[in-house]
Amino acid sequence: MSRPAVFLDRDGTLTEEVGYVNHPRRLRLLPRSARAIRRLNEVGVAAIVVTNQAGVARGYFSEEVLQAVNAALVAQLKDEGAHLDAIYVCPHHPTEGEPPYRLDCACRKPKPGLLHRAAADHGLDLTRSTLVGDRPSDLVAARAVGAAAVLVLTGYGLGEWEYRRARFPLEPDHVAPDLLDAVEWVLARRRA
Ligand SMILES: [Mg+2]
Ligand SMILES: [Zn+2]
Repeated sequence: MSRPAVFLDRDGTLTEEVGYVNHPRRLRLLPRSARAIRRLNEVGVAAIVVTNQAGVARGYFSEEVLQAVNAALVAQLKDEGAHLDAIYVCPHHPTEGEPPYRLDCACRKPKPGLLHRAAADHGLDLTRSTLVGDRPSDLVAARAVGAAAVLVLTGYGLGEWEYRRARFPLEPDHVAPDLLDAVEWVLARRRA
């Protein structure tokens, strides 16, 4: 039986948007992120990070550094009793850097490749899933697979929503102040 997931953008959604995270020490969880993940763990909804990291393609940091940063994310969450089911990364950029990372791939959001990969690996029902992110490209990836699209106002979210929403390619299904509020919306909707 396939289960639902909440897909989480990393930078600006789960962690502070600080630009390229080229060292584990630059990674900072947002204040209520661990609580949000714990809520998902409690109810058996998969918590899966889907993140574009074109800094690899651009040569700003290596895949090894990226893995160390993601390991720090897992460790910080674990310290607060929260568990991620998986992390999926697009390290590509269509025009910057060198092959193999300079690639017009199918996984860089707004494309939904990371979501399809996660669904295949973890037996997820994408139409009962939700993607939470701070940019319109996150919303587009969600809609492309029939998942609910939630915009958070952390990271780039507030500026995108206040100043640029007229240019959004689609309306979010919900706008939440932060990830915990987004998760509470998802869980309330399941009960309804
Ligand atoms: Mg983001
Ligand atoms: Zn990619």
